[in-house]
Amino acid sequence: MRLPGNKILRIRGWALALIFIGMIIMYAGMFFRSTPWLMLIFLILGVIPILLSFVIYFYVGMISARAVRVQCPNCGKHTKILGTVDYCQHCKEPLTLDKDLEGEEFNIDYNVKHRREKLKSQLKKED
Ligand SMILES: [Zn+2]
Repeated sequence: MRLPGNKILRIRGWALALIFIGMIIMYAGMFFRSTPWLMLIFLILGVIPILLSFVIYFYVGMISARAVRVQCPNCGKHTKILGTVDYCQHCKEPLTLDKDLEGEEFNIDYNVKHRREKLKSQLKKED
């Protein structure tokens, strides 16, 4: 996966990776068929990341319902913005919901409120 990217897609990517990790751990357990308790431990360990990924998928569903849908000014497609700044899902164009930050250099720090406020006060001083 290319980074940085749209946050929702990135979280989904992690959830998918967790499913694979869980499967690999469970598969590794098959090598210990002769010791049932060890195999059981591997199976349980393998279930944990898979359950975690279901939780993440559920969470993504919730935040994606809350995310703002916008039309990307660069490629014209619809994308979802999470937080104050995010990338377009299609062309990776950096997008912001904060009018004050428009045209400024893109920085993922803007998602943290106090950093954003600090930057804004700096911009005001420059004006
Ligand atoms: Zn775009």
